[in-house]
Amino acid sequence: MHRAASLAEEVYEAIFARLMALNIPPGARITVDTLVRELAVSQTPIREALGRLEGEGLVVKTHLVGYSAAPQITRRRFEELYELRLLLEPEMSGRAAVTMTEAALAELTAAAGVMSRSGGADERARYSQFARQDALFHDQILEIAGNELIRETLAHQHTHFHIFRLMFHSRVTEEALDEHEAILAAFAAHDPDLARQAMRTHIERSRDRLLPAFDS
Ligand SMILES: [Zn+2]
Repeated sequence: MHRAASLAEEVYEAIFARLMALNIPPGARITVDTLVRELAVSQTPIREALGRLEGEGLVVKTHLVGYSAAPQITRRRFEELYELRLLLEPEMSGRAAVTMTEAALAELTAAAGVMSRSGGADERARYSQFARQDALFHDQILEIAGNELIRETLAHQHTHFHIFRLMFHSRVTEEALDEHEAILAAFAAHDPDLARQAMRTHIERSRDRLLPAFDS
């Protein structure tokens, strides 16, 4: 039982990493048989993983066609997403700076620390892990801020999964880490103005880092 669960998880992670690092590019067909061969597992865990990825908006299932990677978000959608984030996340960070407990800050700092560990993992695997951890980091801040509706609204967009698929570049992760540190410093100081500003700067810079993806 445990083995089956961990196999399903491994298969899911393997396909997730291919999608995030653009080994399976946006819009590309995903054939179950190909994954069976590449991952050397049966169809069952692959279909399970694809169903889960469909729920996360990364995979699309079309009647009679089968699975494909979700298309790239449009520039317009990208700008809308960042507008939404800029309206909500700086304000929520200011609130989190006020309600932040030592325990919550320790947890958040640990979450941020996991991201900086480059370790032995290959760069593509690291990139896909970073995408997930960045999503968790931002979600945790919203949880601490305490508005569940705002948290659900942003979670539902799967923003991080979509934006990390725009570009595969280490700059995306390295610079974000510095900005996360500035956010954590503002939380440690319990300074709402500083927290608002640090989050605003992070989101604006993230937008500017990824915008060139639409030029090609
Ligand atoms: Zn971030």
